[in-house]
Amino acid sequence: MASATRLYNPIAEQLSREELEALQLRKLQRFVDFAYHRSDFYRRKFDAAGVEPEQIRTLDDFRKRIPLTTKTEWLEDQANRPPYGSASTVQAADLARFYLTSGTSGIGQEVHALTRADLEYAGSWTYGFHWAGIDPGDVFVNTLPVGLGNLAGPDSGIQSAVRSRLNIFNIGHLPAEQKLAMMCRFSPDLLFAVPAYLQRLELLAREQGIDPRTFGLKAILLAAEPYTIEWAERAMEFWGCPLTELYGSTQATSAIAFPCEHGAVRDGRRGILHVLEHLIFAEVVGRATREQVEPGEDGELVLTSFERVGTPLLRWASDDRVQFRPHSDCSCGRPFSGMTAGEVARYDDMMKIKAVNVWPEAVDGVMFRDTDVAEYQGEVFDTDAGTTVAVRVEFRADIAPERRAARLAELSRELRETIGIGMNLVEAAEPLPRFEFKVRRWTDHRVAGRQRILHTEKA
Ligand SMILES: [Zn+2]
Repeated sequence: MASATRLYNPIAEQLSREELEALQLRKLQRFVDFAYHRSDFYRRKFDAAGVEPEQIRTLDDFRKRIPLTTKTEWLEDQANRPPYGSASTVQAADLARFYLTSGTSGIGQEVHALTRADLEYAGSWTYGFHWAGIDPGDVFVNTLPVGLGNLAGPDSGIQSAVRSRLNIFNIGHLPAEQKLAMMCRFSPDLLFAVPAYLQRLELLAREQGIDPRTFGLKAILLAAEPYTIEWAERAMEFWGCPLTELYGSTQATSAIAFPCEHGAVRDGRRGILHVLEHLIFAEVVGRATREQVEPGEDGELVLTSFERVGTPLLRWASDDRVQFRPHSDCSCGRPFSGMTAGEVARYDDMMKIKAVNVWPEAVDGVMFRDTDVAEYQGEVFDTDAGTTVAVRVEFRADIAPERRAARLAELSRELRETIGIGMNLVEAAEPLPRFEFKVRRWTDHRVAGRQRILHTEKA
């Protein structure tokens, strides 16, 4: 099914790739020069690397000469120069807001101080709304709690929704039953949820006999977690609308990549999250090589904001694993390259178990292939017998006891075949936490700070 192209910024979205790269080079040169002369943090980094702004004559010069910035450096700098660190190029009086990271890595929260002009970036969800077919006046239901401290996520989303003139419903504070009741009453056009929470709402709607196809949703906006194609297709069928998605981070200030009109998944294939490359410079580099990867390969996303001055971002190593997709992979004609939808994962979520790299989303893929499993929690620990993986599984309330036992055995077999290691599955004795944001289903007792469950639903 072809969709009409919905350009939000016709000038930027109709640049040729060559024109876009020429624009990026001009912006990068200006920004590197600015950061070098105005930010103590970056001047020290450039001096240590022996690089001067005049040496950046091509995009490759930028990629090869400017050193990466890591979370550890950032945290150290902010510990030495509290609270904002030495990267900022402005006086505290010019700051308008700061965002804190959610601390999911377990090693601390970064501060990202922003000026009023920087907050313009935070309105960038408007691209994603427009590309997904959302228009002014449409009802936008946000299932994430707005009171998530100073996280960029919900805050920039609300600012963007105001800019897009959406009719905003913040219902994150309500229990899931009341969220569904509100949706029945007000017919959302756009629903924003993390995949695990959408799953929670789906199971509850099934229990309550609610058919969400009657809402007339135009799209569901996903974020923060990977998902399988089967899961996406089932969700589209159940909710009766396409899925869109965003990639964003506190470091990036907001959401900076979205699927175009083709959506996150269509015809059994994953779409592309097009990066807003006129606003931010994105690279995908190999973890070991630190060289740009080829199309279709996985690597770490590295970000440079072109204009952010409150806390400039230059070659920020995101620790996010993405699959690089060139702009030419999409037929929409936009010059923006990006990454595969539904597959963004965090490197520090990967667990090494019995010499196997275990990604939590691979386990999710097995667990949530059908709707029998409502939630699960996994633990990894060392015993005298070696490393052990214990998984507690909560089934949907209406699944019969005999079927539960059979499903546990099937899931064990599928996990062994798919993941390559044995896991001890048992039925959970009591209900498990439900996640509204930042899903953390795993506790690795071998690593301090690996327990990172955040923002679970309270009700
Ligand atoms: Zn496209």
